[in-house]
Amino acid sequence: MSYTGPDFDPPPNPRSRRRPLTVAVAALVCGGLLGWGVYAATGGTDDDGAGARAEGSPSAPSRTPSQPASPSAGDTEGSGDTEGGGDEESPASRAPSASAPAAAGPLKGKVVVIDPGHNPANFRHTAEINRQVDVGTHRKECDTTGTSTDDGYAEAEFTLDVAHRMRANLQKQGATVKLTQDRDRPYGPCVDERARIGNAAKADAVVSIHADGSGAGNRGFHVILPGSVHEGEADTRAIVGPSSELGARIAGSFVRVTGTAPSNYIGGGTGLVTRKDLGGLNLSTVPKVFIECGNMRDGKDAALLTSAAWRQKAAQGVSEGIVSFLRG
Ligand code: ZN
Repeated sequence: MSYTGPDFDPPPNPRSRRRPLTVAVAALVCGGLLGWGVYAATGGTDDDGAGARAEGSPSAPSRTPSQPASPSAGDTEGSGDTEGGGDEESPASRAPSASAPAAAGPLKGKVVVIDPGHNPANFRHTAEINRQVDVGTHRKECDTTGTSTDDGYAEAEFTLDVAHRMRANLQKQGATVKLTQDRDRPYGPCVDERARIGNAAKADAVVSIHADGSGAGNRGFHVILPGSVHEGEADTRAIVGPSSELGARIAGSFVRVTGTAPSNYIGGGTGLVTRKDLGGLNLSTVPKVFIECGNMRDGKDAALLTSAAWRQKAAQGVSEGIVSFLRG
């Protein structure tokens, strides 16, 4: 069966639909290398802590601790305990732990931190995750529940699944891989701690895995790059350059491996977006990007995101971008 939606299927006729995709890929790669085509996000996307709507107005009312999470409550209210995708856990999900000795390979000696966005149990800890933390530029919620598909497949389950698959790929390349959470804590970590885990590991690259919660019809992936901020504890000036390179390589390999087009609703078709409001990026002192792998609230994207075969491709696409970045 095909795991890509009709809009993104590799076209049989190179004269018709392949050309626009090829152009998009070329533009994306060149854009990354030349530094153009990067757009400041203005909202509407999921993120490391609170969704862009709350990001843009830190004083916006938060969910109350007593408010139950619901799959239909909005794109930052993932259900957390549902498995709408119906996929069995893959062998990759049972890969050796991060403490296993790294295999010999081209990435031997390299440290990669994978940050699976949200936590499947966050919805049980609304008081804790609504606590405000300092991200340098402002204060924001510790974490959020994440979004979900309309059928209830939680973003937090998606991010862990992709993270496990990435870990297996990267360990095969010899990298030392650490996850910021692996369903091994009751909630979180908070976005500031997520950044500090990468910093403490002296990671050579950090990627935060997400899926977006935008409107139906909005499709495709985008990689979020740190903007230059220097305020409070936030100082990204040293990582803006390498993070941009990391993000461009991930975007390029994601297109190539998954066949999925860059976002049609943010980033001007480049698949690259720069933001200065994400604590997970602002507090990082090592190269770091986010990737929103698709839009869980769009039916066609949801069909991809809930497919184990597609998630394997997604993990491979991100992993190959990391390998490319680390090998130079
Ligand atoms: Zn997210």
